[in-house]
Amino acid sequence: MTKALFEVPATPLVPVRGETAAFPVHRIFCVGRNYAEHAAEMGFEVDREAPFYFTKPVSAIVATGSTIAYPPGTSNFHYEMELVVAIGAPAFKVGVDEAANAVFGYACGLDMTRRDLQIAYRVKQRPWSLGKAFEQSAPIAEITKAADYGAIGPQRIHLSVGDEVRQDAHLSDMVWSVAELISHLSQFYHLVPGDLIFTGTPAGVGPVVSGDAIHGEIEGLQPVEVVIGDAE
Ligand code: MN
Repeated sequence: MTKALFEVPATPLVPVRGETAAFPVHRIFCVGRNYAEHAAEMGFEVDREAPFYFTKPVSAIVATGSTIAYPPGTSNFHYEMELVVAIGAPAFKVGVDEAANAVFGYACGLDMTRRDLQIAYRVKQRPWSLGKAFEQSAPIAEITKAADYGAIGPQRIHLSVGDEVRQDAHLSDMVWSVAELISHLSQFYHLVPGDLIFTGTPAGVGPVVSGDAIHGEIEGLQPVEVVIGDAE
């Protein structure tokens, strides 16, 4: 067997409610503009022809309860509260009606964003990577297994910074359902256990600064909470 030249960071693990073993993260897919009011606040209409995606590296994963550094290269660091779908079975070119078989569970997650860089690169028609795909940009709470959660729809999704509610919507406001997203993504990727899908954020995104405490919650799931630390 070939020996590795050096050690690389271990696969991040996300705790699972009621399990001693944790969920290993393989890939992170993120959906853009999946709530109409958020698309509008960003100056766009929702594209109802198809969802679109970007990705984050697994180094973006950070546990709820962490203090995350205010990242370099930005002066407009934003929160986005999202439902995260954890994939637990292979899915490739599956239909919407089969997509639920691939779901392991759900979690609260934050798609932390260097908004100034995202917008600057978008304007230049360049990739968003510097704005979205960076270390500690995907805080995530414990996963609840799908069988213990029930149907996605009426649950409230909300986020506060300190005492102030900034985002407040329902999962039924999503333009593309979880099943539609899995079916669509599976036309392009072999989804495998360990994949995560961040399903997009409601309206109300905004900046945070060092010292802010973020609390994001979806009814029935463990909240995701981070404190913004000093700038790096
Ligand atoms: Mn997002």
